[in-house]
Amino acid sequence: MAKILCVLYDDPIDGYPTSYPRDDLPTIERYPDGQTLPTPNAIDFQPGQLLGSVGGELGLRKFLEAGGHQLIVTEAKDGPDSEFERELVDADVVISQPFWPAYMTAERFAKARNLKLVVTAGIGSDHTDLQAAIENGVTVAEVTYCNSISVAEHVVMMILGLARNYLQSWDLVKAGGWNIADCAARSYDIEGMHVGTVAAGRIGSAVLRRLKPFDVHLHYTDRHRLPAEVEAELGVTFHDSAADMVPHCDVVTINAPLHPETENLFDAAMIARMKRGAYLVNTARGKIANREAVADALESGQLAGYAGDVWFPQPAPRNHPWRTMPNHGMTPHISGTTLSAQARYAAGTREILECFLEGRPIREEYLIVDGGRLAGAGAHSYSEGNATKGSEEAEQFKVPLPPIPAQ
Ligand code: NAD
Repeated sequence: MAKILCVLYDDPIDGYPTSYPRDDLPTIERYPDGQTLPTPNAIDFQPGQLLGSVGGELGLRKFLEAGGHQLIVTEAKDGPDSEFERELVDADVVISQPFWPAYMTAERFAKARNLKLVVTAGIGSDHTDLQAAIENGVTVAEVTYCNSISVAEHVVMMILGLARNYLQSWDLVKAGGWNIADCAARSYDIEGMHVGTVAAGRIGSAVLRRLKPFDVHLHYTDRHRLPAEVEAELGVTFHDSAADMVPHCDVVTINAPLHPETENLFDAAMIARMKRGAYLVNTARGKIANREAVADALESGQLAGYAGDVWFPQPAPRNHPWRTMPNHGMTPHISGTTLSAQARYAAGTREILECFLEGRPIREEYLIVDGGRLAGAGAHSYSEGNATKGSEEAEQFKVPLPPIPAQ
C-alpha cells in the first residue's frame, strides 16, 4: 500500500464552493498536435468543480482509499515544521501543483527515504530539484499539455491588457474617475508591432497562432526549430538566441521552462537589449526574469509594462517588489489553473497514479526524469541541474508586513 502526499492550495476564503458560474465545460477530444487528453480508467469528480484546492483533493480520495492507499492532503508546505515535511519521511509519492509548489530540494529528497515518484499536477517541474531526482532514482512526471492552451490564452490577454492600458483604466473607473486622457496617454494598438516568444513549444506556438490574426510581425527563438512549413504558415522569423531576438521586438513573451539554461535569462543586460518601452509578459517561471532588473526597468521606463502570473518563490513574500512596481499586471499564479485546466490535470494525475500503482509504464510524454536521467518531455525541454535554490524564502509569506505608519 502506498502513502501519497499531496500539497494543494487553500480553499477559497469563504469556503469550498457550493455552486459555479457555469454548468458545464466544452468537450475537447484531443490537443492541437493530436495527443490524447488524459485517459484514466475512471474519474470521481465532476469536470468544472474546484479540484486544485485542499477541499477538491484533485478528486483522488475515493480512488486511492478504495485501493487501500493512504492520501494526505495539506497546504502547509514550507518550513521544517510544516505538515508536508513531517509526512514526507515515509511518503511513496509526492504530488503538488506549480501554483503552490512543494519545493522538492536535495535536503527533502534526503529525508524522503521511500520516495519513488514526484508528480506535477500541471506543467513545469522546476520546483523539484531534477538533479537530486536523477541521483536518487526518483521518477518525475507532469501532465504535459493539460494547461498549455489555458496559458496561451492568458498570454494574449496580458499582451493586450498592457498595450491597451486596461488595468489602469479599470482602476480609474472603480475609483469614480472619468479622465480619459490618463487612460489614453499609455494606450497603443498592437497591430504592426513585432512580437517575439522565447520558446515555441506547446504554449509558445499556441501564442503565435493566436496572435497571427492581429496582424503583428512574429518572432521566436527555441533550442528546437519549428518545421519549415509551420514557420511559413505563421510567417514567423527564427532567431538563434533571445539576445538576438529581443532588440527587434515591441513585445516579448517568455514560454520556456525554468532550468539552468533559462534561470535569470532576463537580467539587466538582456532587458537593456530590448527596445525602450517594450512590454515583457512572463507566464513561464518567475526566476527566468531577474527580480530587481524588472522592477528597475519599469521605474526607468526601459519597459513600458510587465505582466505575468509567476513569481519566485511561491507564494511571493508580501514585500516582493513585483507587487508594487509601476505599470505591472501581475496576478498570483493562476493562468494554468482555470476550472477547465483542473479537470484535465486532475484526470492526468489519476492516470499517472494508476500506472504507477499497477506497475504500468507512464506515458513517455509525461516523463521529466525516469531511470536516473532526463526522459520524455524532460529530455526535450530541460537540462540537468537544480533550479530550486532560494525556495526556502517561500516561508516568508507567513510574515506579515509591518503596519503602515499613519500620515
Ligand atoms: P513545452 O515542453 O511544450 O515547450 C517548452 C519549449 O521550451 C520547448 O520547445 C523547448 O525546446 C524550449 N526551450 C527549453 N529550453 C530552452 C532554451 N534554453 N532556450 C529556448 N527554448 C528553450 O512546454 P509548454 O507546455 O510550452 O510549457 C512551457 C513552460 O511554461 C513550462 O515548463 C512551465 O514552466 C510554464 N507553464 C506555466 C503555466 C502557468 O500556469 N503559468 C502553466 C503551464 C506551463
